[in-house]
Amino acid sequence: MASTADIPKTMKALLKETETESYVYTQMPVPEPEKDEVLIKVDVVSICGSDIALYKWSEMARVIATVPFIPGHETAGTVVKCGPDATMKIGSRVGVENHFYCGDCYQCNNGMKEICINMGQYGHGRKTMHGGCSEYSIVSQKYLYEITQDLNAEEITMLEPLGVAHNGVERLKVKDEDVLVIGCGPVGLLAQRVAKVMGAKRVIGADIEEWKLKLAKDIGTDIVINTKEKDIKEVIMEITSGTGIGRICECSGNATMLNSCFSYLRKGGRVVLIGLTKQPLHVEHPLPDIMFKCLTIKTVHGRRIYHTWEALEKMVADKEVDVDKVITHRFPMSQYEEAFKTLFSGSACKIVMDPSK
Ligand SMILES: [Zn+2]
Ligand SMILES: [Zn+2]
Repeated sequence: MASTADIPKTMKALLKETETESYVYTQMPVPEPEKDEVLIKVDVVSICGSDIALYKWSEMARVIATVPFIPGHETAGTVVKCGPDATMKIGSRVGVENHFYCGDCYQCNNGMKEICINMGQYGHGRKTMHGGCSEYSIVSQKYLYEITQDLNAEEITMLEPLGVAHNGVERLKVKDEDVLVIGCGPVGLLAQRVAKVMGAKRVIGADIEEWKLKLAKDIGTDIVINTKEKDIKEVIMEITSGTGIGRICECSGNATMLNSCFSYLRKGGRVVLIGLTKQPLHVEHPLPDIMFKCLTIKTVHGRRIYHTWEALEKMVADKEVDVDKVITHRFPMSQYEEAFKTLFSGSACKIVMDPSK
């Protein structure tokens, strides 16, 4: 177990200092926890599709981040020091809930902390400059989820993206339903697995990449559709005997896929939108595809705090979800340029980094 004496004075971290492409890999002082803050040693950080925008500083980055900041919002760590008002035990293993809610607004007071109107965001420079791409990090203890079961550091860091998948699938009410998940990136694949665990009848995964569909098969998805080769509507109508699919989880963020999915949704069906769509949405035939379908559309942002974490800690500990199946690359953080290049190339599913190396 780490003791205060083991904490060095300085640490390695990635830093976005200015609104330009790339990060600097730098040495900086290990921060001192104040008030209810906790100093964690970061065991693993994983990078996410949204980290591409932050790295490249594209238009979306200006909407979701503020410089300066240390990136990395999917973080597993170990508590090494507490501020004067923090009560966590040294050595506790934690996941970071990166939606820093205010605790005061309408949403926070009505069970919707994850969409707090005054939300800060860890790894995005929002109300904190800290993030997980750093050997040590500072987080208020109210945003730390303490792990009590036997999970390894990679499993803990994956609770964040897995949480988004769980939040979406839970709202779909999938039990005994056929569930189509569009997009087989990390969140899409995890959504397919969670749907299966939650009792879906058949899980169908759709993507344009054959290697991703192979991962879907590997994670237990019943049917896969390569939408570059096949017309998704035709396949769905065929396997549902013309009724349409009852549940759709949109994880691709592809506007064309999203716009057209209502045409093969079953009447009275449910759709949850998870993939971040940047183009305008447009439904070609609103009367038959939306208005007369009596459908339900949900969107989710983040995880339900801390309901999602509790459910998933158990699911992962019980080996119902194997997050290892979506981790395709591991890098020491000193090779972050290689890690991000791999992320940009589209040839990776989940990439994890070790900040200590
Ligand atoms: Zn993420
Ligand atoms: Zn709030």
